Amino acid sequence: MAILTATKHDGDSLNADVVIITTGRRRIPANSGILASASPVLTNIIEKPSKSNGGSSKRVIKILGVPCDAVSIFVRFLYSPSLTEKEMEKYGIHLLALSHVYMVAQLKQRCTKGVGARVTVENVVDVLQLARLCDAPDLWLKCMRLIHTKFKTVEQTEGWKFLQEHDPFLELDILQFIDDAELKRVDGKGCLRCKRMIQLLRLHSSVCDQSESCRVPLCRQFKKRGEKEKKMVEDTKWKVLVRRVASAKAMSSLSQSKKNKSEVLLKEEAEDFIRIRKKLI
Ligand SMILES: [Zn+2]
Ligand SMILES: [Zn+2]
Repeated sequence: MAILTATKHDGDSLNADVVIITTGRRRIPANSGILASASPVLTNIIEKPSKSNGGSSKRVIKILGVPCDAVSIFVRFLYSPSLTEKEMEKYGIHLLALSHVYMVAQLKQRCTKGVGARVTVENVVDVLQLARLCDAPDLWLKCMRLIHTKFKTVEQTEGWKFLQEHDPFLELDILQFIDDAELKRVDGKGCLRCKRMIQLLRLHSSVCDQSESCRVPLCRQFKKRGEKEKKMVEDTKWKVLVRRVASAKAMSSLSQSKKNKSEVLLKEEAEDFIRIRKKLI
């Protein structure tokens, strides 16, 4: 009996009982057991009662918003976790988005590194947005650091101009990061005289009322930091509120019984993602 069960299971795992459909209408046959064991999100989709009336038709899973080849590579990865450098080069950002949406941790880790290793001044702003969207803090930090060191060049890119028009909050985040990094740099090291000098500059900043146009070094940066500290209480409240709204949103999409959780997530994320991707082409 045990042998029979084992044999049956092996047979099943070779069988394609679902079909994945891409934006380009490619049909990729796959085995539900393998998909489910690799992705909790796919488990949800597969375990949901099928809408189709007949038992004969194969279950359909739509993976939209990314190139067909990226979906094929993604599915292949679920079967056996390997990825060539070429695939990473061409579809790293798409695979990162897929790995995030479908919660495939191993792939996400690989893509975070792979995309991070290939980030350039030309695409760093887009990758930064993707990192935020995909909740990839390592990649985010890597992008921030690159933007900081190459800011003069990054400022000239299409990505930066797009960001300035469409995402002023992210722009603010970046400028804040750069200011903070500059301050850390001068705060951290130096002899006693340097430290005295910095204290003096800080003191100046605290009494300067024209810090935006002031030519004294670090005046504006210290001013901003001072304001930031003052606003800390408000900021904390604000952050808590944002987190609550975000988790309420996540909860409502989790509890949506009629619409599929992952479809909802994928749709929202895909929309953002497509916007980013359009700029990358
Ligand atoms: Zn010194
Ligand atoms: Zn000043």
